[in-house]
Amino acid sequence: MTAPRILIIGAGVAGITALHVLRERGYTDVAVLEKGDDVGGVWHWNRYPGLTCDVPSQIYQFGFAPKPDWTRIWADGSEIQRYHRDVVEQFGLAPHIRCNTEVTSAAWDDDARTWAVSTAAGEDLVVDVLICATGVLHHPAIPDIPGLAEFDGPVVHTARWDGDVVTDGKRIAVIGTGSTGVQVVSALQPAASSIVHFVRSPQWILWATMGIRQSRVVSSVLRRLPPVHQTLTKSLLWGSGILADITTRPSWRRRLVQAYARLSLRVQVRDRALRTVLTPDYEPLCKRQVVSGTYYRAIQAHNAILVNDPITEITAQGIRTADGTTHPVDVVVLATGFHAHNYMRPMTVSGRDGMTLDEAWADGPRAYRTLAVPGFPNMFTVLGPNSPTGSISLQLTSELTAGYIADLLDHLEQTSSATIEVTEEATKKFNADVTQAMTPTVWNTGCNSWYLTPNGAVDLWPWDKPTLTRMLAHPDLDHFDVRAADGAQVLSAR
Ligand code: NAP
Repeated sequence: MTAPRILIIGAGVAGITALHVLRERGYTDVAVLEKGDDVGGVWHWNRYPGLTCDVPSQIYQFGFAPKPDWTRIWADGSEIQRYHRDVVEQFGLAPHIRCNTEVTSAAWDDDARTWAVSTAAGEDLVVDVLICATGVLHHPAIPDIPGLAEFDGPVVHTARWDGDVVTDGKRIAVIGTGSTGVQVVSALQPAASSIVHFVRSPQWILWATMGIRQSRVVSSVLRRLPPVHQTLTKSLLWGSGILADITTRPSWRRRLVQAYARLSLRVQVRDRALRTVLTPDYEPLCKRQVVSGTYYRAIQAHNAILVNDPITEITAQGIRTADGTTHPVDVVVLATGFHAHNYMRPMTVSGRDGMTLDEAWADGPRAYRTLAVPGFPNMFTVLGPNSPTGSISLQLTSELTAGYIADLLDHLEQTSSATIEVTEEATKKFNADVTQAMTPTVWNTGCNSWYLTPNGAVDLWPWDKPTLTRMLAHPDLDHFDVRAADGAQVLSAR
C-alpha cells in the first residue's frame, strides 16, 4: 500500500500526537475528524471550576512540543487547552483537522479492503486505515438516581459544564468524590451559600499545594536554555516513572506514599468523627489517586457539609438520603465520572466478516499492546484498552503507539501489501500476560474504581515504563497477519 488514506478519529492528546507523528513519517493523506467544536479532547470538554492537572505541566506536554513557560507548576485546564490549540497551529496540523464532525459508524469492506465511514451529518468517506483516538474519559456517566429529571434547578455534569450556571451565593450539591469532585468542591465552596458533598465512597487524598506559580525568571531561563529545559523534563519524567513501579509492584516506596496519604488526612482533619467518615476502607493508590491541597480545608468550612448517607431520591427542591433527610439545594453538580471502557463506542464499528466491536468485546475491551484488535484489519487504537492511564505519561504512550503504527504502515508499503491485522493468538497471549502481571498491582487490592471493567478486570497497563517502551518500540511482525490485495498472505521476511 502506498500513500494510504488515513482517518484519525478524535483530536485530543492521542489524535494530535498520531497526526503529528504520521506526518513526520511522511504520511500526508491524513485527516482527523473531531466531534467537538475544538481540539483538545478532555481539555476541551472539561471546563468545570477548579479544573487543574495534577501532573506537573513540564511533563504534561508533547515530547515534540516542549513548553518552557507554563505559568504554574500544575497548570489549570484553560492553559492546557490553549497549549493544545497552539501546538496544532505551530506544527501546521490545523488543515488536517475537521471539528464538529462526529463519526457514527465504520465498516470494513472485505472486498475493497477499505473502511467505509459515516458521519452524523450523513457524509460517507472511504479510507484505507482507521485510527481510533477517541479517549478514555469521554462519555459522562449520569447516575440513575430517582427524580433527577424532576429537580427544579440546574443539573450539570462536570464534563459538560455550563458556564451560564450561577453557583456563587447558591446552595450547591456535589455528587462524587473522585479527582473531579474534590477539585470542584474546593473551587465552589468559598463563594457558595452552602455546599453539600455527597460522598458514597471516600477517597484517599494526597496533600500537595497545587497553585504554585512558575516564576518568570524560571520561564525565561528554560526558554533561553533548551538543554536546561530538556534536563528538567527528563528528570521529571524519570521521577514520574517511579509511579509505575509504585503502583505495579509492592515495595517500601508504595508503603511510603500510602503512609503519606494517611498522614495527609490525619494532619488536616482533626475532628475524629469527620476523619472516620473520610477514611476509605481500601488501600491508598487503589483508585486513581486524588491530589489536593485545598479539599480538606473546604469540607471543614462553615458552609460545607459532608453527607455519606446513600442518596435515595432527588426531589424538585433537594436531595433525599436514606436517613430521611432532605437537603435543600439550588444546583446539582454531577462529578460522577465516565463510562471509561466505551472507547470508540457508541460508534458502530464492524470488522472482517461483519463482526461488530460489541461482539468482539462481549467479555470486555481487549487489544494487543493497547493498539490493535483481531478481526479489525487496518484499524488501530491510540490509548486503547490496557493503556497506562494510571501510571505513565499519556503523551509518551501516544507517541510510542503512533510510531508503532507508522512502522506497520511502512511495512505494508515495503511489501506492497494491502492489509495488516493482529493475530488472535498474539492478542490472547498478551492478554493472558496482562492478567498475570496485574496480580501484584495496587489497583487489584480490593477497591471499586473506574479502572475495573464490568466483569472485574483491571483495564490498565500492569508493567513499568521500560516495558511499555520496549513493547511499543518496534512491531513484532510475527504477531500480525499481512495480506496482499488479492488476499494472499504475505510472510514476514524474518
Ligand atoms: P471518578 O473517579 O470515576 O469518580 C466518580 C465519583 O462519583 C465517585 O466518587 C463515585 O462513587 C461517585 N458516584 C458515581 N455515581 C454515583 C451515585 N449514583 N451516587 C453517588 N456517588 C456516585 O470520576 P472523576 O472524579 O471525574 O475522575 C475520573 C478521572 O478523571 C480521574 O480518576 C482522573 O484520571 C481524571 N481526572 C484527572 C484530573 C487531573 O487533575 N489530572 C482531574 C479530574 C479528573 P464510588 O467511588 O462509590 O463509585
